Amino acid sequence: MYSVADNFQATESTVISNTATLQKYLQLDQKGSVIAEYVWIDASGGLRSKCKTLTEKPKSIDDLPEWNFDGSSTGQAPGDNSDVYLRPVAFFADPFRLGDNILVMAECWMADGKPNAYNFRHDAAVIMKAHESHVFWFGLEQEYTMLGADGWPYGWPKNGFPAPQGPYYCGVGTGKVMRRDIVESHYKACLYAGINISGTNAEVMPAQWEYQVGPCVGIELGDQLWMSRFILQRVAEDFGTKITFAPKPIPGDWNGAGLHTNVSTKEMRADGGMKHIEAAMEKLAERHKVHMEVYGEDNDQRMTGAHETASFDKFSWGVANRGASVRVNRACAEEGKGYFEDRRPASNADPYQVTGMIVETLCGKVKG
Ligand code: ADP
Ligand code: MN
Ligand code: MN
Ligand code: MN
Ligand code: MN
Repeated sequence: MYSVADNFQATESTVISNTATLQKYLQLDQKGSVIAEYVWIDASGGLRSKCKTLTEKPKSIDDLPEWNFDGSSTGQAPGDNSDVYLRPVAFFADPFRLGDNILVMAECWMADGKPNAYNFRHDAAVIMKAHESHVFWFGLEQEYTMLGADGWPYGWPKNGFPAPQGPYYCGVGTGKVMRRDIVESHYKACLYAGINISGTNAEVMPAQWEYQVGPCVGIELGDQLWMSRFILQRVAEDFGTKITFAPKPIPGDWNGAGLHTNVSTKEMRADGGMKHIEAAMEKLAERHKVHMEVYGEDNDQRMTGAHETASFDKFSWGVANRGASVRVNRACAEEGKGYFEDRRPASNADPYQVTGMIVETLCGKVKG
């Protein structure tokens, strides 16, 4: 696997200078041209992007041209066959450039007509299409941690630790939360882009935050969540702060970061849905190991059984139980219908793989 050094030091010159001078240029008329920033997922689960000038505003995804990049520079292709093709799958209003400009989520494809090895969307989309009659809804809770330029959690004392966890979760006030400016900017930017961001909160570990995306139907969740991650990284760039999706950024008595995955089908949301949720639990229990393989790297460091996590090795579920692999909320158990929360995925998991695996387990494999 291609790995990127995460210790690149942000300096003044790497921070986008948010000056009146920059504003002057951002306001220049584009004379009818549209900037499309194509975003894709690289070999390490990071994001890359490059920009293309279009002569017209696209009306639908079919108006967006296929494009390409040098895959040997991203670890996605060998140097002697380096072209990787970008196929647009979703586009959003660009919250950074405004106007008619757009952000484009793209799938990576190879010259031989096969998906790139790191294109996990393709298989997920095939399986979701096959089972679309169940109308899967997904709502994901993306946790992340902010780091200062030195790689230590933002605002933590140098060479030391803040006071123990307790006051920080949903906290308010100086010393309890860090960098609310980034959180606010990201929230607004997602709304502007048209992402179905459903909320945000400060997390248990200081400098750790969460936002939720969803409910979204099927593959749209992955498209929106990946773009929300791009927007978060891009906003944090403006503020000179690093974002990490590492599931256990600080060992010891500090909460890890997850990607709780809330799931329902049409049948689960209807009267009597609880029996469909119970049937789903049996299927998830049988395939626990297969799920854990795509639920994020280093997730074993996070899933210790402490800090509101379950065992890494053993599946469990329960009503209102935050120490189980899957939690069914009390309202759902009382009404006998609703959704369940798979608490196992780590913050760095690929939402395409997570949601695709859930549909595969509940509805069966599909030849793709
Ligand atoms: P928690 O109580 O675990 O912190 P959150 O409120 O952070 O839960 O997130 C719950 C997520 O579940 C939200 O993204 C929400 O949109 C999503 N959600 C709500 N109803 C459903 C449903 N029926 N199916 C799937 N997801 C849902
Ligand atoms: Mn070039
Ligand atoms: Mn939550
Ligand atoms: Mn949380
Ligand atoms: Mn949750």
